[in-house]
Amino acid sequence: VIKVEEDKPQDLKPRPPVITIMGHVDHGKTSLLDAIRSAKVTEGEAGGITQHIGAYQVATEGGAVLTFLDTPGHAAFTSMRSRGAQVTDIVVLVVAADDAVMPQTVEAINHAKAAGVPMIVAINKIDKPAANPDKVRTDLLQHEVIVEKMSGDVQDVEVSAVSGQGLDNLLEAIALQAEILELKANPDRAAQGAVIEAQLDVGRGPVATVLVENGTLKQGNIFVVGEQWGKVRALINSKGERVKEAGPSVPVEVLGLNGTPEAGDVLNVTETEAQAREIAEYRANAAKEKRAAAGAA
Ligand code: GDP
Repeated sequence: VIKVEEDKPQDLKPRPPVITIMGHVDHGKTSLLDAIRSAKVTEGEAGGITQHIGAYQVATEGGAVLTFLDTPGHAAFTSMRSRGAQVTDIVVLVVAADDAVMPQTVEAINHAKAAGVPMIVAINKIDKPAANPDKVRTDLLQHEVIVEKMSGDVQDVEVSAVSGQGLDNLLEAIALQAEILELKANPDRAAQGAVIEAQLDVGRGPVATVLVENGTLKQGNIFVVGEQWGKVRALINSKGERVKEAGPSVPVEVLGLNGTPEAGDVLNVTETEAQAREIAEYRANAAKEKRAAAGAA
């Protein structure tokens, strides 16, 4: 329904990579996300209070900005992808050094391969006495993941989410991979984004965390998102600060929705409120008819 014009090459500018952390349960996905976040995001901030909005941004020592999706687990990745939103540029595959390649490790490898997204292996829990990173590297060979230490081209980094060891190396590895990908977007156009998560907030009404994929989302913009529409009343970044606009690869909470969209829904800025409303209603009706047809069958 929405025609999106192609960007001219000269309008494209570099954008930060979007990273998803995947791996087997208990291998340390959440710990790693928290460690990166607390080491990098809260630096120098008053009180160091950050809020979880489903994604956050950090800056590496080398000055690269990275966007992490803060929803570990494969369900988010696959459900977003099944809804047509592929927002991940790089997968960090976490494998515990005191364990081995496990079923969900293999699942993650398959997801990344199916999506054509490059992987970086984080061999976690390197602080543990039982850590055996070479066993992990050998295990991975059987799944056609050949890390650099095995003369392959997949970067592998030894880390500890608990001691913080190797975290900077991991971030630099991600920045390097991002450079190779030459990720670009056009910040000077109407925004398009994907919903990372959404909920009905008691005080604030429907709230959606949107990852801007292209263009710049601004306060006052009118938009359609899935079967909902709205006008941006406020934008809040992952540090909890109010911002006037959000460019490519920036995650922001969006206030001003008329209803609650679903994770994976695509957001498009429109020129008029009538347009946004019409597209949203058309989609809602189409979905209703589809459900009725499925019920009758
Ligand atoms: P997830 O299920 O993959 O998200 O794993 P969690 O982050 O919940 O971690 C599972 C358990 O491993 C928790 O008890 C963590 O404290 C522990 N853990 C995670 N990373 C490390 C690490 O680098 N070293 C050690 N010693 N323990 C870790």
